[in-house]
This record gives sequence, C-alpha cells and structure tokens, in this order.
Amino acid sequence: MEKKVYLDNAATTFVSGEVLNEMMPCFNAIYGNPNSLHSFGRDAAAIVDRARDRVQKAIGAKSATEIYFTSGGTEADNWAIKGIAKAYANKGKHIIVSQIEHHAILSSCEELEKEGFEVSYVKVDKYGIVSIADIIDKIRPDTTLISVMAVNNEVGTIQNLLAIAKTAHEHGIIFHTDAVQAIGALKINVQDMEIDAMSMSAHKIYGPKGCGALYVRNGVRIQNFMDGGSQERGKRGGTLNVPSIAGFGKAIEIATRDFAINQKKIKSIREYFLSKVTERIPYIRVNGHPYQKVQGILNISFEMIEGESILMLLDLDGIAVSTGSACTSNSLEPSHVLRAMGIEDEVAQGSIRFSFGKNTSKSDIDYVVDKLEVAVAKLRAISPITKAGRK
Ligand SMILES: *Cc1c(COP(=O)(O)O)cnc(C)c1O
Repeated sequence: MEKKVYLDNAATTFVSGEVLNEMMPCFNAIYGNPNSLHSFGRDAAAIVDRARDRVQKAIGAKSATEIYFTSGGTEADNWAIKGIAKAYANKGKHIIVSQIEHHAILSSCEELEKEGFEVSYVKVDKYGIVSIADIIDKIRPDTTLISVMAVNNEVGTIQNLLAIAKTAHEHGIIFHTDAVQAIGALKINVQDMEIDAMSMSAHKIYGPKGCGALYVRNGVRIQNFMDGGSQERGKRGGTLNVPSIAGFGKAIEIATRDFAINQKKIKSIREYFLSKVTERIPYIRVNGHPYQKVQGILNISFEMIEGESILMLLDLDGIAVSTGSACTSNSLEPSHVLRAMGIEDEVAQGSIRFSFGKNTSKSDIDYVVDKLEVAVAKLRAISPITKAGRK
C-alpha cells in the first residue's frame, strides 16, 4: 500500500481511541434526551454534566455553568462576537479585533458592520504578534469588546493574552479569545489569564467534528444564540449532541493529561523536520515567531514557486499539507495573515503550513522531506519566476 502522511493537524485531527470509546455508548445504550425527567434522560444528563465539568477543569473556569456547548469553534466565535457586541450595544457599538483572526471572527465582524457597529482591526508585527500599542490607540469610549486569538492557525504565533486582557479591563472592556488552536498546545487558565469569553473546538484536539464550546464568565452579558428549549440555560436551544459532547469532554481531559508528553514529542518532530528541510532545500523562509509559537505548526515559504503546486504534488504522494495562502474563490489572494505580517505577496504565495500531530513519526518526516525536495526542485525548474543565480 502507498504510504500516507497527514501533516494537516491544524485543520482537523483523527478521533482518538479513548475518545471514541467514551462516545460509543451514547449512540445506543444511553440514548435519552438529557432534558427528559425520567431515568433515560437523567443518564444522558449525567454524561453531559461530566463533560461540562471536564471542560471547566481543563480551562480553569470558576463554574461549569460558564461553559456552553456549541456546534464547534465557528459557532462559538459567531456567538461571542455578535452576542456580546449586541448585549452591550446600549453602552457602545465599537469593537476591536486583530487583523489575523480566523474567518469565523472576521466574517462575524463584517455582519456587525452591516448592522451599524464599527470594528477596528489591530496590526501585528512581522512575527504575527498583536500590537498592544495599536490596541490602546484604537480604544474609544464606546468600545465594548476586544477579541484576539490565543494562537494563530496559520503560523502558530502565541499572543500576549494576559497583557491584552489587562488593557481591555483597564478600560472596562470585555475580552474574548478564540482558543481553538491553543487548547492542548498551550496551558490555558481563564481566571489567571483574565479571559471573559473563550471559543473552543473538539476536532482540533482528537475529538469529534461539529462540537465545541464557548466559555462565558459569570456576569458577562451575551445574547441568546438560538431560541428554543431551556438547554444551555436558555441561551442555546436544541437537544444536545450527547455523543459529541461526551467525546469533547474526554478529548480536553486527555489534552491536559498528556500535555507535557505530546508537547515534547511534537517539538522534537518539528525540529527534526525543519533541520532536514533547511539542510536539503534552499531559498526557504520560516514564517511566524521564532519561539513564541506552538510546537505543532510550521509555516514555510518556498521562494519562486506556488504553495498550491507544492500541495498538489505532495498529494500525489499521499501527503496532506495546507497552503498558507488559502486562495479565495475567484483569485489567488494571499493569506490575510501573512499579508498582515508584511510578507510580500510572491513569498506568501509560496507558503505551506505543515502541522504535526501526536502520532507523526520520524519515518513520516523522512518520507515527506524526500518527496518535498523532489517537488520543490521540479517546480523551480519550470518556474517563470527566477532570481539571478537562484535557479
Ligand atoms: C478551526 C478553527 C476554527 C473553527 O472551528 P470549527 O470547530 O472547525 O468550526 C476557529 N478558529 C480557529 C483559530 C481555528 O483554527
């Protein structure tokens, strides 16, 4: 059989065996509706309660009632941005986010702008670190919310969350963070880090797709996400997805339990990969912060060629990676993240995101580096873009 290597763990991960075992009984043995009053319902409710406690514990929330289960990170981001901005609209209609947020945040902001809210987009430096000076510059008397992601999904840069939270709070502003890429990769404690609201997703941490959560600190106002039954304290109606919630609870518990061992493993794999690539492939640039970054994400620009072409050649060899330059529907628009970091469009277009997982092995890396070296050489040989003496 042809070898297959998955280096796209920032897009999604496999569901781990332990998580799957936690989910399985919820499909048939324990199938009650957690809102029902009989024993079938109570059994399902107990599963949801346990999962909620596990999420609370993993993020250091004060109370499990501060955790709202959602259909994933996108829903949590939409809910946080729109729900908090609207809940405080009587105080002001201005919010601040960074230029490098996930599209779940940026598109939510665009919707708010259509409804008369104003949004300021803060700058980042060449490493993708959000400028606190620029945040302070953009704060106004009618600013109600600041949202900055904990870890960027394209380059892996870690933000100075506590400093941003403190800045927000000095001005009486709510602080939300998209922590989808941070869970399992970074130690998060919402109380110590002064986070008021935080988005999470199960499928980036070896849990099921279509499940996540929004943490909302007690006392922070947020509009209802969906009207319906009394689920999630009346804020998000709809029968709960018990199997996925059980899986998410288990996944986040494991992420905390195995944190040190996974970090160590993934760090050594990433370093091994980068040393091999640096040794064998010329004219590359590593994007993102040299050390204030998560272990699992490595974004590299291969000069003079396009990321999409590399991706397609690697795909023929059974290797899965992602382009940093997610091309929008009609154009080869370079990534908004790399652009915000001031990386020239030609370089951004040649970028690839390699994201490593807890099962990535050294032999996987050896295979990928061999194929990558050939792919890059092949593409450069036919590239119309050349630099004197660089071909
Ligand atoms: C994946 C991701 C999301 C979206 O989460 P889903 O559960 O896939 O909807 C949001 N933000 C970041 C930073 C992500 O990486």
